[in-house]
Amino acid sequence: MVNNFSTLVERIKKDGKSLPGGILKVDSFINHQLDPVLYHEMAQEFNRRFDPATYNKILTIEASGIAPAIMLGLLTSKPVVFAKKKKPSTMSNMLVTEVFSFTKNTTYQICIASEFLTSQDKVLFIDDFLANGKAAQGILDLISQAGAQLAGMGFLIEKGFQAGGKFLRDQNIHVESLAIIDSLDNCEITFAQ
Ligand code: 5GP
Repeated sequence: MVNNFSTLVERIKKDGKSLPGGILKVDSFINHQLDPVLYHEMAQEFNRRFDPATYNKILTIEASGIAPAIMLGLLTSKPVVFAKKKKPSTMSNMLVTEVFSFTKNTTYQICIASEFLTSQDKVLFIDDFLANGKAAQGILDLISQAGAQLAGMGFLIEKGFQAGGKFLRDQNIHVESLAIIDSLDNCEITFAQ
């Protein structure tokens, strides 16, 4: 069942730009310049959709996931951990995996210090976009390496015409996307109904 968050949908209609190649540009309010009031409202919506009692930690990936994750962390008083895209020289014990990026057409590594993701953790993953689900897949691998549990995955925007949503829901993962886009064909933004 599609459950679009109308505040975000209206903002995407107003300020989002559909670029050739099926890329949605939202950098005037989400990805580059940030609208904190909108972020606050989106975090409240995540908080309605994911029971805070089901997770103890919020996980994301730098950089674009940090803003929505920290906003939810503030509302729920839960710690936020972001997977790093470059291994810090000071990090020794860590969990590492590879993620393929279609938008950049490259593979990169993400890592988390093993002390911040353990078998004691039940995590909620938050990110800006769900497209092919490769970033989410990398997170699933890190969670499995840590022996942690997954409570759910929340995305601001899901590109419903790409494979990620089906890939995750087929594994019975609780996935919530605040806005699902059906098509960006002809540079027009069509939302799932
Ligand atoms: P996935 O790993 O699901 O294939 O892709 C998710 C990542 O790709 C997101 O974190 C985001 O950085 C990037 N991405 C994918 N599609 C888009 C898009 O249409 N617009 C923007 N701004 N980023 C995208």
